[in-house]
Formats: sequence, C-alpha cells, structure tokens
Amino acid sequence: MLSERRVKIVATIGPALATREKLKQAIETGVNVARLNFSHGTHDDHLFVINTIRELSSELKAPVTILQDLQGPKIRVGKLKNGAIELVEGERVSISYSYSLGEQNKISTDFKDIASVCRKGAKILMDDGLFELLIEEISGDEVFCKVIYGGTLKDRKGINLPGLELPIECLTEKDLIDLEFGLRHDVDYIALSFVRTGNDIKVLRDLIDKKNLNTKIIAKIEMLEAVDNLEDIIELSDAVMVARGDLAIEIGHTHLPAMQKKIIALCNEMDRPVITATQMLDSMVSNPRPTRAEVTDVANAVLDGSDALMLSAESATGEHPFKCIATMHEIIKEVEAGDGFFYYDISLDEDLVEGPQAVAASACLTAMKIEASAIVCLSTTGKTATLVSGFRPKARIIAMTKIQGTLNTMELPWGIQTFAIDNYKSTDEAIEYVEETLVKYGLVSAGDKIVLTLGVPVLSGTKTNSIIVHKITSETKPLANSELPLRCKEVT
Ligand code: PEP
Repeated sequence: MLSERRVKIVATIGPALATREKLKQAIETGVNVARLNFSHGTHDDHLFVINTIRELSSELKAPVTILQDLQGPKIRVGKLKNGAIELVEGERVSISYSYSLGEQNKISTDFKDIASVCRKGAKILMDDGLFELLIEEISGDEVFCKVIYGGTLKDRKGINLPGLELPIECLTEKDLIDLEFGLRHDVDYIALSFVRTGNDIKVLRDLIDKKNLNTKIIAKIEMLEAVDNLEDIIELSDAVMVARGDLAIEIGHTHLPAMQKKIIALCNEMDRPVITATQMLDSMVSNPRPTRAEVTDVANAVLDGSDALMLSAESATGEHPFKCIATMHEIIKEVEAGDGFFYYDISLDEDLVEGPQAVAASACLTAMKIEASAIVCLSTTGKTATLVSGFRPKARIIAMTKIQGTLNTMELPWGIQTFAIDNYKSTDEAIEYVEETLVKYGLVSAGDKIVLTLGVPVLSGTKTNSIIVHKITSETKPLANSELPLRCKEVT
C-alpha cells in the first residue's frame, strides 16, 4: 500500500514526465506532491500539468498537492550556442548581460546588474556550485574571470555570487505574473525563493489575501540572511523547504548537514511541514541505480524528521524518473520499518497552551495507549491533522474533509492520508461514514479502535474541540483491490 509510507515524495515535473501517461505512472509509483518549477516552462506547459494532475487525482482517487515554485531573483546563464560550452580550467572567460548568445569563453546572463555588483577577487559559482570562476577584472558591462573549476556548462544553469550584495527584491516582475497565473489555477502551495526575512512572507501573504484565497506558502531557505531570521520566517510560513542547492553555496558545503538538521528540528518544533530538497538521487539523472551516499542521504533526511523529500532534475529531466520515485519510496519505507525510526514524539512537558495542540496531543496519546489503528481528523482547514502529524504517531493519520482544497494540501505533511467526506448532520452520522469508509477501503476491520477529532456540535461549524474513541463493529467487506483508491491498493 502506497499509504504505508509516511514521508511524502515531491517530484519536480519537467519534460521527463510531461505527458498524461507519464504523470499517471508517476502518481501510481508514489508521487504525493507535484512541483511546478517556474524557472522553466511556459504557462501553457504548466497549465497542461495542473489540469492533467487534477483529472488523474479524481480518476485514481489520489489527491495530489500542486506546488508552484516561483523562480525568484535567481541569476541564470543565458542562451549558449548549441546549448552548452566547455569551461576550461585556467582559461579566461567573460560574462555579460549584453551577450545575446553565449559561445566558447563568452557567457551570457539574464542579470542586467552583473557588472555593477561584481568585485575583483570575488567568486562566481555556476550550476549549483559545480563550476567556480574567480573575478579578475570588470570592464564596462563585461566581467572577466579565470576558470578555477570547469566542465560542461549548459544554458539556463543558475549563477551564485556568494558574499556580494544584490539589489534585488524577493518577488520579481516575472514572479508576480507567474503568481497571478498560479492563483488563478488554484495551486495549493506557493514556494517563495530567496526569502530573506519574515517580511518577504508577509508581502506574499498580503497578495494572496487580497484575492481572498487560502493558498499556502512554503519558505525556501537558501540565503544566509534567511538563516539569521529562521524562527520569524518559519512562524509566518505554512511550510518550509531546505533548498540545499543554493543554501550550500551561500553557507558553504561543510555547514549544510548541520544546517539541514537545525532547520528540520525547528520546523518540527514549530509544527510546520518541512521538505528536504535537491540532489537527493542526483546520479540517477543518468544512472538506473543510486550511489551509497545518496541512499544514505535520503535515509538520513527521513531520520532527521523531514515531512517530505524532493526530486528535482531526477524527475524533471532525468532518464529514469520512475526508478527515482520508486527508489525514494523503497528507501523511505525501509527506514520507517527500521529500529532507528521513532514514532510518538510526545512530550508532556511541552506547554500546550492552545486548544488545537492539546486536542492533537491528546488524540496521539490516546491512540498510543489504546493501540488505535487510526487517528481520523474531521477537518475543514487541516490544522488538527497537521498538528497530529507533528507528533509522528504510529497509528495511521486520516484527514477527512468536504473541502477539495484542504484535501489537496494535506498530501504534503508527514503520514496524512486524505479522503473526501459527504456532508454530515450529526456526530453519529459522521462516525458511521468514517467507519464504513475505512472498512470499505481495508484500512480497519471489526474490533479495531480508532480515535476521531472533530468540532461539536457538528452543524455549527465549530473548530475541532473533541476526541472520540470508537470501536469498529462493521462487518462490511472491503472493496476488491481494483476498486480501491490508488494509495489503499495492495501492490502485487
Ligand atoms: C535549491 O536551491 O535547492 C532549490 C530547490 O531551488 P531551485 O531549484 O529553484 O534553485
């Protein structure tokens, strides 16, 4: 059963997955969240993916979260003759905004201020820090550099200027156009790139609020300044991404492992879902098997407490997108079944000052004590289910809601399995519906105990305030495997 895996899989969608058949196979192989990277592709490309995923979700009865990742003020290599050039170590190359097409030793870029922000002696890194140039001279709008570490540079690869002050806003003109598109097409999360302060999140939140939408925000932590303002940023965001590509360049590679653990721990503490991203199975872009180091990296990100792990080029442009999804799924499952994995991170010393946290903690504690098979959160916003997920209970977490948007967003946090529920007029009716659904889907059977969280009285739309322990008595037969929602199916 795909839903037995607790840590979720985010797959970046690109040419390697952009047909209906391939998207279907990706969801069937285990994708929970589809990331649309707005650094690439046209609006038409993204719209095809959004519409197709929504259709497939309902066909397969498998909600998929759609995450729009805004490019932000990312500096990129421009177009290069034949798509790539060789950077030869020791050779002199120039970079300029004025080159319309780069060629050997001449690199074009989309950053118009490159010459004015560069300083002699500073470093320029390209392609996630793979290539390094040393700035030797700036003349007019050209920056002349010596290649320190070279290789094949492809066009559109990222450029980092660590330590240089950049006169850039978090949301560029392109981002605002892309945001308008994403909101119009009901994406579930917006990932904001190059966040520096909590105020960056507030600016985006205001734009979303102005449209009366509940679209959630993911803060991508990839700047040194963001690390200094971490608590504030996490507090104001709905979820967080450890964007290791740019982060490693900004803080230095050797600081990355400790920083990853620090960000994840803080997100766990502050009840914000956290995605670990970038190069998790990078060698699988061209190889059918991962390296030992990659297997270990994926496993460690699970043990660190990630809610979700992300595939980037592996699924967007790689040669083996389905093998990557399956490999990630297998590694996560193996770690979750092992001794080093801890469930029930419940501390009774914690100050549970607010009602929702107290209800979520009590539901998890009760489920642990009575060995419940599932904690079922009847939800409108998904808040209680997210809090329950934060306690990492061993019992299945099931979020049931009649709101499609909530159903979709709940695919991201750790362990939450989502189902639609019809309108119910009383607590009894809700319990009956839950019991029949879970039995029908083969998730519980007669004699099992479940813990429900809900707001009563149910008709008044009260926020979650109650816990009910319920024993399953239904003798209804589970549906045949072929009729089950995708993630409840037994894999043969
Ligand atoms: C990253 O830097 O790790 C990241 C996820 O951001 P992007 O792929 O947009 O550069």
